[in-house]
Formats: sequence, structure tokens, C-alpha cells
Amino acid sequence: MHLSRYLKIYSCPDRPGNLLLYSTRRGATILLPESILRAAEEGRLAPADQETLVRLGFLVPDPAAEQEELRGLLDGANRHRKIFNAIVVMNLDCNLACTYCYEGQRKEKRYLSDETAELLVTFIEERAISQGKEVILTFHGGEPLLSRELIGEISGRLKAAAEAKGVAFGFNMITNGTLLTRKVVEELVPLGLKGAKVTLDGPKDIHDRFRPFVSGKGSFDLIVSNVKEVCELIKLQIGGNFSRDNYREFPRLLDFLLEEGITPDKIHRLQFVPITGTAGDAMHPDFNDGCLSVNEPWLIEATIFLREEIMRRGFSTPPIVMSACMVEFADDLVVNHDGALFKCPAFINWQGLSIGDLRSGITDYRASHDLDAWKTDECLECAYLPLCFGGCKFMQLVRDGKIGGLDCKKPYLDATLEALVRQDVQYRK
Ligand code: SF4
Ligand code: SF4
Repeated sequence: MHLSRYLKIYSCPDRPGNLLLYSTRRGATILLPESILRAAEEGRLAPADQETLVRLGFLVPDPAAEQEELRGLLDGANRHRKIFNAIVVMNLDCNLACTYCYEGQRKEKRYLSDETAELLVTFIEERAISQGKEVILTFHGGEPLLSRELIGEISGRLKAAAEAKGVAFGFNMITNGTLLTRKVVEELVPLGLKGAKVTLDGPKDIHDRFRPFVSGKGSFDLIVSNVKEVCELIKLQIGGNFSRDNYREFPRLLDFLLEEGITPDKIHRLQFVPITGTAGDAMHPDFNDGCLSVNEPWLIEATIFLREEIMRRGFSTPPIVMSACMVEFADDLVVNHDGALFKCPAFINWQGLSIGDLRSGITDYRASHDLDAWKTDECLECAYLPLCFGGCKFMQLVRDGKIGGLDCKKPYLDATLEALVRQDVQYRK
């Protein structure tokens, strides 16, 4: 037996003689006496211990075979995965005027039309439902709930088509939360609404400065009131966008939520992410699920600090697990309001990155999106590969003006992973 290549070993100053092992491939963590690790390396481990370490992915019979397995992992997932995911941009309109909005001055009253909705339903029926694939949609905007009726129509039809084929259908929304009333949620749940992500950009004073209504009035109170009304009906996620100047204020928001009775059992997930870029090259702030990583020292500190504050109050936040960019998955798509297809919401504002449209289908984007860039010796030998798979293609765009090569997460993971793993050990029971 050999130690897995996709493994990080950290010392334990508070537990002398022990080591903390984290398998980047399995997301497993174990506290191990140094003597056991030495015995494992020297092949003199008790059979029961060996079996445990193999099961958790810390020991492998053949490191070369493990590397080959990683090389084929995403191709295998694409062959066998039975889930179709699409992010659908319902409009570019919004009732808020967020100061950092990626649409900037370009925000226009463009909506997904009835005709495009028709094409969307047919596309998903043919590409997913008739293939027996579960369908998960995420409605996005602008503000998707400005298109509430059309969301209901699209979902109703797809739900009926999925049921007729015996496959599952569900949808989520990324919404600013101002229109997410109990009545709206009660109407949409029977059509397949499972969850929503709303955004609170810090405590009231900060949020209202960043996310006012078009009229200038703050939106914090209304969003919090809606969160209280719907958090027990659907899986509700709270996101928030922080900046270098204000991230230390975010724990005040967490305390406020607890005081208001918005307790960890009512919130599916809570995560704060940095505002990235400026209008023109920025990711939609409400989409950013934390798949971006930026190697700036303040950001590393902020990420660790805010995750700790979230977890120590008992809220759930994403664990450190294997993940790859949605660009790598054949059945992950973004449908723009005009029917154009993309591989990531952040690509919509970039020329030449559409991969087709609902009418004519998907073109071959392997070369234009530089798939498999991570299949190099350096990446295949890197312990971080299961958490990175070559990094974020949007960051390559921002950096180089084109997709190509790698967005190496090594500096970021070197600086953060140990602290994040220790948080998981401490707070996840
Ligand atoms: S390109 Fe980057 S932002 Fe887009 S899905 Fe991939 S990792 Fe996320
Ligand atoms: S891009 Fe960097 S961090 Fe990612 S797998 Fe390759 S070498 Fe490792």
C-alpha cells in the first residue's frame, strides 16, 4: 500500500505525536498518530487499520492507477451522470440598483420571451428528459422574480414532461429576495421550487448602502422579512458580497439573524464571497458561489475569518470537497434571456464565448474553452487536483483576456486549506 498522492498532511501542535491528514480526493479527514503513518509507509500496518485508511482514501494499492483514475474522472462523470443542470437568465431587469452590479450601465429591460421559453422547454425535453436525466434549473437575472409568471409556465410544463417520463424535476432561484414572499413561494413550490439564494451584503447599514432600491430606499428590512416568511418552506441560502473595507463588519449580520430567530436550522447554507472585478469583467455578484479564488493576502484572511464566524455560530457553509468548474461538465449550461448558450454565467458579457443557442444546439467548445487543460503531469501530480482541476476559466479571462492554460490555485490553497480543514474538524460533528 502507498500513501495517496491527493493528500495533505498537517502537524498538530496541540496534539504532539499526531498528524492531521486530509484527502483532497475523498474530502476525508483523520487525526493519526505519527507511528501509524510511519507503519503505513513501511507496510507494517495492522489489517484493520489498513482497511480503514484504504476506505477513506489515504492509502492506495497503486499510485499510478490512482493518477489514471483521476485523469479519467470528469470524462467518466460526463458519460454516466444522469443530471442536467441549467442556469436560466430570465431577464436583465432589476428592482434594485446595487452599486457594484456587473451589468453596470448596461442594465436594460430585456426579458426572456414566450418564444424563447418554448424553445427552452423543447430543448430540455429533447436533451435531458427524453434521455431519462433529472432536470435541475436555476433561474437567474437581473431579478428572476420579475419574470415570475413565465417561470411558473416553464416549470409547470417541464414538471409534467418529467413526470410523464418518470424523471425528477426541480428548480432553484438566485434572487435579491425582495419579491420572495410567502405567497410567491407557496405558488411555486408545487411547480418544483426547491430552494432560493438571497443576498444580504452585511448588516443593515452596509447592505442598504450597496443594495438600495432604484428609488434609493434600502432593501434590507424587506429581504429579512421575506427570509423569515419562507425559510421553512424551501431550502434557503443566504449569500453576501464583501469588500476589503467591510468584511470585518459581517459578523454583526450573523448576530442580527440569530436575534431575529433566523437560526441555523432554518438556513440551508450561508456563505460570504468577495466582490470581484468591476463592471465589464465582473462575475454577477449573486452567482459567485465561491468557485473563484483570488490569491490576495487580504482575501485569504477574510475567507478564513468569515467562514470561522459563520461556523462557530452553527450555520452551515460549504465543506471542502472535490469540485470542478461547470465548464468541464457536458450537462451544465447557461441559457441567456435571448436563447444563447454559455458554459458559465460570467462568460455572458464576453464576445465569442457563446457555445450555440436553443434553436441550433451546442457547438463543439472543447478547443475554445480549453477543456482538459489540467491533464498535465504537473496537475496530475498535484495534491490539490481534486479541489482545482485547473482552476477558474473566468479568472483566466480576466487575467489574459482569453481562456487558455491554468488558473493555479496552489498559492491560495497553500494559504487557506489547512485552516479550512481545521474549521471543518472543529465545527462539523
Ligand atoms: S469559469 Fe470560474 S466562475 Fe465560471 S463556473 Fe468555472 S470556476 Fe466558476
Ligand atoms: S492548476 Fe495548480 S493547484 Fe490546480 S491542479 Fe494544477 S498545479 Fe495543482
